[in-house]
Amino acid sequence: EPYYNPHVAALPKYNAGLNLAAAKAVSGLDQIARLASNENPHGCSPAVSRVLSDGSVEFWRYSDPNCELLRATLAARLEVDANEIVIGNGSEEMIAAASRAFLTEGASALTVAPCFGLHEIEPLAVGASVVKVPMTADFDFDVPAIAAALSSGPNIFFLPSPWNPVGAALDHAGLARVIEATPKTSLFVLDEAYHEFVSDAIPDGLAMLKKAQRPYIVLRTFSKAFGLAGLRVGYAVCSSIKIAKMLSAAKTPFNVNAVAQAAAVAALGDEAWMREAVSRIRVERDRVAAALGAMGLRVARSEGNFLFFDSGRDSAELAIDLLRAGVVVKPWLEPSYRTFVRASIGTAAENDQLLAALSAILQA
Ligand code: PMP
Repeated sequence: EPYYNPHVAALPKYNAGLNLAAAKAVSGLDQIARLASNENPHGCSPAVSRVLSDGSVEFWRYSDPNCELLRATLAARLEVDANEIVIGNGSEEMIAAASRAFLTEGASALTVAPCFGLHEIEPLAVGASVVKVPMTADFDFDVPAIAAALSSGPNIFFLPSPWNPVGAALDHAGLARVIEATPKTSLFVLDEAYHEFVSDAIPDGLAMLKKAQRPYIVLRTFSKAFGLAGLRVGYAVCSSIKIAKMLSAAKTPFNVNAVAQAAAVAALGDEAWMREAVSRIRVERDRVAAALGAMGLRVARSEGNFLFFDSGRDSAELAIDLLRAGVVVKPWLEPSYRTFVRASIGTAAENDQLLAALSAILQA
């Protein structure tokens, strides 16, 4: 037997959601409502399809290891130094890189519960411990409890806002309080994967952190609002070049492929497409939330492209019943959240498929 790294051997499994072939086999249907991964049901900008088909991407060469063009485009847009941006193979790679770069055996990470799987898995993988502050009874951040937990000085604080899976996002006062409570020896990682979906009441976390004079990383992605989940591009905006260099050192050299880099630049060039898709998704989200509420379910308020609700029954069993109706959702399996399910917002037809299936199951 080889040596098995005990931290890796003991990792909880990341629930990657959909197995399309299994969904088709179980349901006997061809139309599967894929509501498990918070993708953009409208696809992506036609500008992306154009650049992928016009022959301009030299994919037989190694991709640019520094993603120069994409970083420069983002830097201009975000008004930051391009040297403070690191592009990842999805923002998930930047969660892994941050854990490798800023944690080690015996180090500590703090996040919230229910957590985004990788905010726990990546720290555990390098032998760090993870403390999680549970949501409040009304499905929100427990800001006083988070502030209290921060006083112990975790090496990294992973804060998702909007919060996957719950949906809540911190308002200005809440985020200000949390930033204030984070010791300067802790690296503040604000995961804004769903940033583009938030309402006007929610502040731009990067703008607030820029003013805070403290070490931070803000994570964003092309997987959600920009609709490029399968191409795998996300990025980290760091408070210093030194932090960015640490992330770069911890990633693999050619981590973002050439097609993905070109697609991300094209997507940024058509922001109007993204805005339009986001506004359609938000209208659908509010419609689905109201319909779930009308079924008597408790639904968390969402600033993202997904809804988290208490089904009142075992979520794994509910997910299988929904699968039989051709609907794939993400059940929460931890004991404390065992009746909770997260459903992404799909097209109107997919959402109707979810609502009809749920209503039939809950009435049976
Ligand atoms: N952070 C959060 C909060 C997420 O929900 C996700 C995707 N589910 C990610 C990071 C990773 O996304 P990606 O790697 O596709 O950028």
